[in-house]
Amino acid sequence: MSEAYDYDLFVIGAGSGGVRAARIAAGHGAKVAVAEEYRVGGTCVIRGCVPKKLLVYGAHFAEDLADARRFGWEVPDCRFDWPTLRDNVLSEVDRLEGIYGEILDRNNVEVFDQRAKITGPNDIELADGTKLRAGTILIATGARPVIPEIEGAEHAITSNEVFHLETLPKRVAIAGGGYIANEFAGIFHEFKCDVTLINRSDKILRHYDEAVRDRLLQISLMKGIKFLFNAPFERIEKQEEGSLLLHMKGQDPMEADVLIFAVGRAPNTQGLGLQEVGVELGKNGAVLVDEDNQSSVPSIYAIGDVTDRVQLTPVAIREGQAFADTVFGGKPTRVDYDSIPSAVFSHPPIAGVGMTEGEARTKLGSVKTYVSDFRPMKNVLAGRNERALYKLVVDDATEEVVGIHMIGPDAPEILQAAAIAVKARLKKPQFDEVLALHPTMAEELVLMK
Ligand code: NDP
Repeated sequence: MSEAYDYDLFVIGAGSGGVRAARIAAGHGAKVAVAEEYRVGGTCVIRGCVPKKLLVYGAHFAEDLADARRFGWEVPDCRFDWPTLRDNVLSEVDRLEGIYGEILDRNNVEVFDQRAKITGPNDIELADGTKLRAGTILIATGARPVIPEIEGAEHAITSNEVFHLETLPKRVAIAGGGYIANEFAGIFHEFKCDVTLINRSDKILRHYDEAVRDRLLQISLMKGIKFLFNAPFERIEKQEEGSLLLHMKGQDPMEADVLIFAVGRAPNTQGLGLQEVGVELGKNGAVLVDEDNQSSVPSIYAIGDVTDRVQLTPVAIREGQAFADTVFGGKPTRVDYDSIPSAVFSHPPIAGVGMTEGEARTKLGSVKTYVSDFRPMKNVLAGRNERALYKLVVDDATEEVVGIHMIGPDAPEILQAAAIAVKARLKKPQFDEVLALHPTMAEELVLMK
């Protein structure tokens, strides 16, 4: 390291991507520091994927307890206690935050618990005024929930606050029709809240396969979740007794106890001093980077949600690893963005990898699809009228399976394994050669004719 610098690498943001980059760079022998203004672990660990998944598990007991009666269990009337689940989830988050801190500590990464600002291509200033210099700066500050600029928006909450609710609201309105909206619609519905999802367009989860998202909509409606489509927000009014009156264009005003904005996430780049030092930003304020995560200032790199490429934790982790291996490990590595599996932890969950049928038809022209629309065995005995749907999208010319899309119990668990086949570009006849593992739901993947 040049004597002019305090560190080889200074990472701003200790989320999944930043921690991975810091740890790997330190392992390659770099002197590394990280600044984190909130909590080590970032969105995924502190107020995203992890606590959300724990709430999904908690919520799903509502169905399991109901179904158990059909399997012979005498289940007394059960009461759900939100503070118990909330506090247990928050303690688990504290535990994981500690583990992330230990990882940094063990790898000799120095952590500054404060905000950092970039003041030059190699210069950082911490909130307490400390000035530091680094050979390379990595921006890994993630993204934050978008709050639309409408009158009364301050009365709404976002996914940041939802994990800390004092009490369980009776009426929950959720603005948006994407990942967060559908996941929390499922969670609150299972907790017996009255849930309405309000979206500006008439589509939910627009990037997923149409048949699969239609199935989620049907099942959600059947369960009692309400949907208002083509209903852009106009204003939010706080009423005297504390509830909210929501005004949407073309709709009657509706009351809710809580409104959650889940209308996308915007890169966290404000106040970092980026434009002042010449870092080019794109729409939404995302840091523009090349395939090696390098910004328009050669000593400044960015990874994860702040670059607004694919807002998923495993992608940020891969980018952090690739950055550290390339810049500090002498192993030039680029992230392969092809066939990234993804899932929505709704009730039931959705999962997909590769091209949707619509995308494949546009890109490949001639496409074959294989669909299995079935009622899982457990749902049959439970008297639960919920059908699963699996779809294989196959390139007609090559027989390659270019996409798999699923909705049904455990779909994300099953799809993670099936994604290997899509990534390996296996063909439909190779799926057919595999013997079914009976009786499972996943066997449908090798039985489609
Ligand atoms: P999404 O991008 O999934 O969905 C945004 C929704 O908000 C869409 O329904 C969109 O409508 C609507 N919308 C967008 N802009 C506006 C606006 N200005 N006013 C009103 N409505 C608007 O966003 P989320 O907030 O749900 O999640 C953010 C990201 O976080 C996701 O894209 C995903 O990458 C990640 N995430 C991943 C999860 C997972 O992997 N399971 C879970 C949670 C989040 P329309 O489509 O009609 O334009």
